[in-house]
Amino acid sequence: MDLGKLADYHTHTPLCRHAEGEPVDYARHAVKIGLGEIGFSDHCPAREEEFDDWRMLLREFPDYVSRVEAARLAVPEIAVRLGLEIDYLENGEPWIEQLSSMAPYDYLIGSVHYIAPGWDIDNPKWIGRWTGIAEIEDIWSAYWRLYAQCARSGYFDFIAHPDLPKKFGHKPDGDLRRFYEPAIEAALVSGTAIEINTSGWHNDCAEQYPARQFLEMMNDAGIPLVISSDAHAPGDVGRDFEKATCLALDTGFTHSTRFEKRKKTLVALPSGVSA
Ligand SMILES: [Zn+2]
Ligand SMILES: [Zn+2]
Repeated sequence: MDLGKLADYHTHTPLCRHAEGEPVDYARHAVKIGLGEIGFSDHCPAREEEFDDWRMLLREFPDYVSRVEAARLAVPEIAVRLGLEIDYLENGEPWIEQLSSMAPYDYLIGSVHYIAPGWDIDNPKWIGRWTGIAEIEDIWSAYWRLYAQCARSGYFDFIAHPDLPKKFGHKPDGDLRRFYEPAIEAALVSGTAIEINTSGWHNDCAEQYPARQFLEMMNDAGIPLVISSDAHAPGDVGRDFEKATCLALDTGFTHSTRFEKRKKTLVALPSGVSA
């Protein structure tokens, strides 16, 4: 499959303290596997330095931008884009606006990891909080309420890993469309794209984010698609992109999305047939 039309925009750097490899190494890997573009979207700084231990500090932000710039200069064979993965927090709009003005981004990614202060639901540290079906229902409800707000906010070019609360395999009973519908409607209103994040295949849930049913609903609604790896190491760039493309084609998508200076362009997905 020719991946030359695809971009991987969801990638990290060592500044977030849980990724390895410099942007230049990620860019070289992207060239090696034939991707058309690569973008960086490390975890954003928080207003308070002691917020948590898995993101760059505010004073490291200029270093982040220069490392991405260094990759752009060192690997001219591929377009290198600048993004940021921003945590959507309740009442966090002023900080999002400040972060959004700090660099000439190509795109911004919105994510929900926190459903309450100190409660980042994808952190294995808190696995003991997923105690039973009532708690799973509550966590999913709180998460999706914020996720729909994040989608509706219009701050972001695309939003990340929709059904992240399934990461450790926890899913509520019943039809999950009750969680998906408000998020899809919100993204439609704001014109925000949504990613297929291939890292889910490597988590306990063993399924891409989002579930196939969500993808079908997204395509029916006409929401633009992005394919992302969420790479935390150079070798993860573009991981499972062929599999994700086949799934996208199978759920009815015909295009993915590219971003430059916060303008989106639709590009045809590669055909599912191996070259
Ligand atoms: Zn991360
Ligand atoms: Zn990420």
